[in-house]
Amino acid sequence: MALIVHKYGGTSMGSTDRIKNVAKRVAKWHDAGYQIVVVPSAMSGETNRIIGLAKEIMADPDPRELDMIASTGEQVSVGLLAIALQALGKKAVSYAGWQVPIKTDSSYTKARIASIDDAKVNADLAEGKIVIITGFQGVDELGNITTLGRGGSDTSAVAIAAALKAQECLIYTDVDGVYTTDPRVVSDARKLNTVTFEEMLEMASLGSKVLQIRSVEFAGNYRMPTRVLSSLTDPLMPLAEEIVSGTLISFEEDTNMEQATITGIAFNRDEAKLTVFGVPDKPGIAFQILGPIADANIEVDMIIQNQSVDGKTDFTFTVPRGDYNKAMDVLNASVKEHIGAGNIIGDSKVSKVSVVGVGMRSHVGIASQMFRTLSDEGINIQMISTSEIKISVLIDEKYMELAVRALHKAFELEAA
Ligand code: ASP
Ligand code: MG
Repeated sequence: MALIVHKYGGTSMGSTDRIKNVAKRVAKWHDAGYQIVVVPSAMSGETNRIIGLAKEIMADPDPRELDMIASTGEQVSVGLLAIALQALGKKAVSYAGWQVPIKTDSSYTKARIASIDDAKVNADLAEGKIVIITGFQGVDELGNITTLGRGGSDTSAVAIAAALKAQECLIYTDVDGVYTTDPRVVSDARKLNTVTFEEMLEMASLGSKVLQIRSVEFAGNYRMPTRVLSSLTDPLMPLAEEIVSGTLISFEEDTNMEQATITGIAFNRDEAKLTVFGVPDKPGIAFQILGPIADANIEVDMIIQNQSVDGKTDFTFTVPRGDYNKAMDVLNASVKEHIGAGNIIGDSKVSKVSVVGVGMRSHVGIASQMFRTLSDEGINIQMISTSEIKISVLIDEKYMELAVRALHKAFELEAA
């Protein structure tokens, strides 16, 4: 019998009425002959609320105790859902992460899954039970409760689906799929029926935050077909319709090669850029500039080093806007003194816009079409970076939405 894993987000679990709807939907799938494992999030707002309690006592609480607290939201959800399913006459059993167990390393608040034991769950499924497992949490070697980082239930669900060799992992959420770009910026953005997991990684990391990015990595590594679909539809809608709804995150080989060259336009509004002028052009310089930035736990994204003139060069990189001041302080403290570079300047009002698509591998001219489109709009490109399936430009924040709209149109991504 085919096994399907369902994941429900906090909005879908947001009240007992919504939980009853989730139970109806799950029961419908079970009635249709599927084995079902459900991985819910905490009720919406709950994780924030309980973490907030800890922070009322102390600004920077012990991460072990934070995980002890944060993990409880999911425990309430699984119990309520089991009760709601039992109320519909279904056999259902809930488990916390440690009961399965879902073993993780000991990095509290951002633990990584090491292994998932399938014995207990498989035995329950064989008895016809619907199994409900907490998202977000696990247990380390020593029996401490851990959590997987905010939004971690997505990752729990895909990892559980992979461990149980499920046919598909369905992520039910409050949007009905993945779009060519954010519909709030481009009103005729189109819902994608499929997106490859590599494209999804680029779209997610570039700010299309539908799924926790680690869940997409899991889907890719374990080749687990994962579908994003809406939990706001009628829970009793015909299964045949529901099965093909939303967006399937698939693998490149599975998609037909005639697809469009570009899949979507991703963007990240909140970038900042820093430039160090007059850097001596000699071995170790990039490391000396970026080493202290990494030590300060700041993530660097785009990097450009110029051709040197008279032994001096300029070095520019981008960081998340929230880290801009910190990065500037680090540069001023370390780099200037030790490297003997010139001025440091920065701009905290820049945004990144990217065109993404595996079709780029087999088509030429995407970059020139992108640059022509931006030029036609009079938008200046400050930095460019590329990968096999993505071209990104850094531009003035003022023009971000204009750029996204123009590119969405130029690559004919709009809904028919
Ligand atoms: N409840 C956790 C959070 O709010 C995990 C999740 O919802 O995925 O981050
Ligand atoms: Mg989420």
